[in-house]
Order: sequence, then structure tokens, then C-alpha cells
Amino acid sequence: MKVLYVCAELFPFVKTGGLADVGAGLPPALKALGCDVRLLMPGFAELLAEATSLSNVAQLPGGRVPWGAAPALPAADLALATLPGFELPVYLVLAPDLYQRRGNPYVGPDGQDWSDNALRFSALGWAAAALGQGLDPHWVPDVIHCHDWHAGLAPAYIRAFADAGRDKPLTVFTIHNLAYQGNFPGAEFVQLGLPESYFDMNGLEFFGQISFMKAAIQYADRITTVSPTYAREITMPQQGHGLDGLLRARATSLSGILNGVDYQVWSPATDALLPNRYDTGNLADKALAKRDLQIRFGLAPRAQALVFGVVSRLTEQKGLHLVPQVLTELVRRGGQLALLGQGDGALEQSLVDASIQYPGQVGVRIGYDEASSHTVMAGADVILVPSAFEPCGLTQLYGLRYGTLPLVRRVGGLADTVVDCTLENLDDGSATGFVFDDLTADGLLSAVRRAMVLFRRPDEWAAVQRHAMGLRFDWLAAAQHYLAIYQSLRPGAQLPTRAV
Ligand code: ADP
Repeated sequence: MKVLYVCAELFPFVKTGGLADVGAGLPPALKALGCDVRLLMPGFAELLAEATSLSNVAQLPGGRVPWGAAPALPAADLALATLPGFELPVYLVLAPDLYQRRGNPYVGPDGQDWSDNALRFSALGWAAAALGQGLDPHWVPDVIHCHDWHAGLAPAYIRAFADAGRDKPLTVFTIHNLAYQGNFPGAEFVQLGLPESYFDMNGLEFFGQISFMKAAIQYADRITTVSPTYAREITMPQQGHGLDGLLRARATSLSGILNGVDYQVWSPATDALLPNRYDTGNLADKALAKRDLQIRFGLAPRAQALVFGVVSRLTEQKGLHLVPQVLTELVRRGGQLALLGQGDGALEQSLVDASIQYPGQVGVRIGYDEASSHTVMAGADVILVPSAFEPCGLTQLYGLRYGTLPLVRRVGGLADTVVDCTLENLDDGSATGFVFDDLTADGLLSAVRRAMVLFRRPDEWAAVQRHAMGLRFDWLAAAQHYLAIYQSLRPGAQLPTRAV
């Protein structure tokens, strides 16, 4: 089965969040299951700079299409690239006017979205649809698997071709975060080259705007998201971001599949970014990683201090505005905080202020730094993820493998992957972390205090660590679920009755 995996991020080349980790983990796992997988991505400068080979495939089609005019794109080529250390071929859309800009794939240096994002990402969807129509005659995909709004127009173009009687590859769309929808002014619809009738509430029109996310939910054959709990949450108003009604209508085509972890990158036994490695067999050596973290983050190197770590985008979603509110109490009780993150300016400032207020107890690094993220993950005792919402979350999964117990809010993928240290869960050996419900300082603080209580019982703490470190969230297991979905879409396959 030929699978085209369409996305905007790929670790380690282009990454703003977990989407990139999924791009690096899932396609190779699908290949291991026998799929013939290729990626399709925008030809970002970072990818072109890294490509070890690049061969031209074809020009992206323009001009007339069966229903009118193709998207109003600048001249663009499709090339096939090889990237170092990545085993799968990657198609790149070569459109220098759209993608040859240094920095973030979505926002300019001023922190604002690039003003031509609708066009930039329509090109990605258009290239996917063109490949589905045989643009590369040597490789025509059976399944086009699109990720997040960036690839959201692909299912719409593919449907438009099918409506015009042309071949239709199967389409699967994965929602990694419903909060980012790719909404643009309705006036930009004409440049997208879609049938006029699609600008409708039963199409991709969303309160007068164009929504790439809605387009994908509307037109993809199957929709998945990255955890079973999030799949349920997004069908309800609180987390539906205005699309819950449509998601309810498509509930039989919606399911949640947990992300996996790349244990070659994220394992304390082999982590090349750590000066001292450890595993369950020499767990005491985690103390060296802790000391290293404390020194690097300007914390007093006290073994008895319970170190809470954070590695995160600093946005409303992550619930980290609660952290400054609990710091006085956390520090008073002998805890420490090591935080690595960037994002919201006001939150960055309040965290930096806290590090000045509590020298030696609160260490804050503003920025994005892969190496430091491993330092925190290995050295902290607890990884804090108090998210308001969390589609899957990866850092709590990394924390489990590193024996850095996750402290999380009971939402989305966090609820699916962390087992609270209640007395009964401690008793039966299933506990892996600390879970709280209320998105309030009190809610967070109660979990912080429970962590501190368990930390004073080193044998029980170590037992929970060992259990957590032994768990595996494998990409192969996730890939098997995706493969089952691809197979269920084949003509003649039995359709699921209820997917969520
Ligand atoms: P999201 O995709 O919502 O940002 P995830 O938990 O799914 O959240 O994935 C976040 C990924 O980004 C993880 O791999 C995490 O280690 C990484 N990350 C987040 N912030 C930073 C940072 N400041 N420096 C380095 N890595 C970071």
C-alpha cells in the first residue's frame, strides 16, 4: 500500500512542537509494517539546506481544472529529496516565493502569521492532490494521510477531482491540535482554486471565513486524533473550538490513536545528549543527571530537593500560568523548578521574575533548545504538564521513560497515559505519576504536595519510577492502528460502526 504522509514539520529538520516528532516516528513505523511511505512537505529553507539529494519530479499543475481554475500559485516544482538520517523519500514543494524564508514555518520575525499563509499551505494540499492524480507516474499513492490544518486543503482538492469523475485516493486526516485551525478571510477563497460551492457552511466556510481545518474534517474519508480522550473531548463544545458539531456529525469516522515515542532519541540508557546515562538497573545514577540539571539551571545542588521540570511552549494551552501562582508554596516546602520554554511574552517575564525572586530554587531558560530539553527530562524528579487541553502530549511520555514522574491535568492524552498515585494504584503497582482535575492554583498545588509526600518515601518513589520506565508507547503499536484504518477504507472493506 502506497501512503503519502503530508505534513509541515519533521524532526530534527523543522520543528515547533510534537507534530515534528510524529513525522519522524510514524512513517518509518508504517514502513516497518510493509507500507510504501513517502512524505510531502513544503520546501522550507531548512529542508533544502539539509537535503543530500534532490531530483526534480514535475511542475505543479496550474491553469484550468475540471471545475474552474487551479490555485493562484507562483510557479512551483515538485522534487524528491533524501534527508540525512531519515530513511524515507520526501517530496518537497519547491516554491521559493512561498517557503524560502528563514525562521518559523508559520510566523514571521515579528511574531505575526505570514500574511500569505492561505496560499503557502494551499500549495501543500494542491501538491498532495496532484500526486493523487498521478503527478509522479512512478509513484501514485493509495492513501493520502494529512496532518493538521497545514495539509487541510488536500482532502478538499481530492474531493473536487473525484466530483469531476477523476481517480480518488483514500484520505485520512489527523488532528494534532484543533485549536490551530488555519482560518483566513473569506475574500481569499477565490485564490484557492476550489469549486465555488465549497464556500458554504456544509463545506469549508466557517463563520464567513475559510477554515483549512474544517475543510479536512468535512472532506477526509477518515479523521483521527492523537488520543482516545481528546477524540471524545473535541466532539463537545468546551474543546470543540466551534467544530464540535461537525465532529459529532462525523463521529462514526473519528477515532483517537495515541502517539508513540522514538525511544532511540528518548531513552536515558542511550541518550547521547546526557553526560551520565542510567536505566532501571542503575537508577541511582539518575542523581548525577539531577545534579547536572541543578548546576546548569543555577539551582542549589541539593539531592533532597524535589525538582519539578517543565519543557514546553509557553502558551495558554499548557496551563503554565498556574506555575508562578504556586511557586511561593513550592519553594517554601523545599521544592525547586527548572523550566525550559518560550512563547507568551507576559508568561516568560513572570517566570524570569520568579527566578530572580527565588535564586537557587527556580531556574528558567527562555528559548528552544533540544539539548537542554534532555537535561531537564533526565534531571528533574517530576515533569509538570498542567495543560488546559492536551491532544496527546509527548513530554509526559518522555518523563515516564526517564523515571521523571509526570504531574499532569486529567485531560486528553495526559488522562490516557498517566496513572495517578492514589493509594490503591500504588498498592496494585499501576501508579506512574500525579493527576489533578481543577485548572486552578489549588488544583495544581494539591498534586505538587502529593508528589512531595511520595518523594519522602524513597522506596515507594523508586517503585513507581521503575514501573513508569518499563512502559512503552511504541510507534509500531500506533502504526498498526493507522494501517487498520487505511485497510478499512479500501473498497469492499467493512466500515466501522462507531469509531470514537
Ligand atoms: P506541543 O506539540 O503541543 O508543543 P507536545 O508535548 O506534543 O506539545 O510536544 C512538544 C515537543 O516539543 C516535545 O518534543 C518537547 O520536548 C519539545 N519542546 C517544547 N518546548 C521546547 C523547548 N523550549 N526546547 C526544546 N524542546 C521543546
